[in-house]
Amino acid sequence: MARAKRFLRVAKIMVIVVLVIVLALFLFFSVSTRVTDNLDTYVYELPYQKGSKYKVVQGYGGLFSHRHIAAIDFRMPTGTPVHAAREGVVYAYKDNSDEGGPLGKYKNKANYIMIKHSDGSFGCYWHLQKNGVLVKSGAVSKGQQIGLSGATGFVLRPHLHFSVKRKLNYEMNSFVRTKFNTSEGVVIIKKGKSYERPMD
Ligand SMILES: [Zn+2]
Repeated sequence: MARAKRFLRVAKIMVIVVLVIVLALFLFFSVSTRVTDNLDTYVYELPYQKGSKYKVVQGYGGLFSHRHIAAIDFRMPTGTPVHAAREGVVYAYKDNSDEGGPLGKYKNKANYIMIKHSDGSFGCYWHLQKNGVLVKSGAVSKGQQIGLSGATGFVLRPHLHFSVKRKLNYEMNSFVRTKFNTSEGVVIIKKGKSYERPMD
């Protein structure tokens, strides 16, 4: 009898612990932090091939790594072609890293390309694969392939991180929210949904 009681008590505690963990995970992946009110008037192209579709696994203000940051993570396998969302000039890049993972030590290990737009803002394409920057200087046109996605830097799994910034720091209002041209029209992208880049 005493043993059965003890078992019940342990079982109850286990259920509570599991519930708390599930709730914490739910909050962690669903709640988002406040981001900038800045909204770009420009309509961006999705940063991948025409006709392809990828899911947004972390959106604006996501708790995992977008706290107060207006950035979007598209889940895509390493080696997926990355295309310019807007025309501009290559401002900076890095593509010599092959390190990445969900640890702080990987924070500065991301490969990336930054494209400066005509209004002075920067398109930022992060976590590219090693040697995954295909245009290293000069002008790029909207929709042109510029790289290959990967999982370098601070990542849980392979994805493309995209953001537009007016200043190159991580302050909330240095970022700009953007509209995208999708097969469902011009939208502000939301987490958990997949978006197809229209053929034309
Ligand atoms: Zn991200």
